[in-house]
Amino acid sequence: KSGFVAIVGRPNVGKSTLMNYIVGQKVAIMSDKPQTTRNKIRAVYTSEEGQIIFIDTPGVHKPKSKLGNYMNRTVENALREVDMILFLVDASETFGPGDEYIIEKLKQVKTPVYLVINKIDKVHPDELLPFIDQYKEKYEFVEIVPVSALLGNNVNRLMEQLLERL
Ligand code: GDP
Ligand code: MG
Repeated sequence: KSGFVAIVGRPNVGKSTLMNYIVGQKVAIMSDKPQTTRNKIRAVYTSEEGQIIFIDTPGVHKPKSKLGNYMNRTVENALREVDMILFLVDASETFGPGDEYIIEKLKQVKTPVYLVINKIDKVHPDELLPFIDQYKEKYEFVEIVPVSALLGNNVNRLMEQLLERL
């Protein structure tokens, strides 16, 4: 089994931290080798069950300048090329326009999306359900997985779920 997974999310939600944890733990490669003109390989996770290639999808954040349709199409095509998308959000932040923008992009592709709620170490467990509800209202995620990329909590479970679905 193997597949491509894109991680998207607002700046500072922990995309790099998650990538580093995954790679640092069960290794393989960290690479800047371009996969396509649109996507870059960031990390490869290998286990007995299979391999997950994580890629970077630049531009899945609200553009600061007007690049118009070209940019939008590039992002959508990049999201179409992968087998799965992880939408990473920060449990200690509120839902904002940056999330709204990403969800609009997600709605334009058929690729399955996981909602990965990061930084659960920063919030009280009671806060988690209302937080999740805000996102559930906007989009139908195939899976919702709370993690702490910093501490590594539940990251293995996330990997298992991804591998099962590939
Ligand atoms: P990126 O911009 O999405 O790549 O975010 P980074 O990986 O650079 O993380 C931004 C900040 O959040 C850094 O200071 C991280 O140490 C911190 N961070 C990332 N994941 C977690 C987490 O699970 N818990 C906590 N408490 N902090 C985190
Ligand atoms: Mg980063």
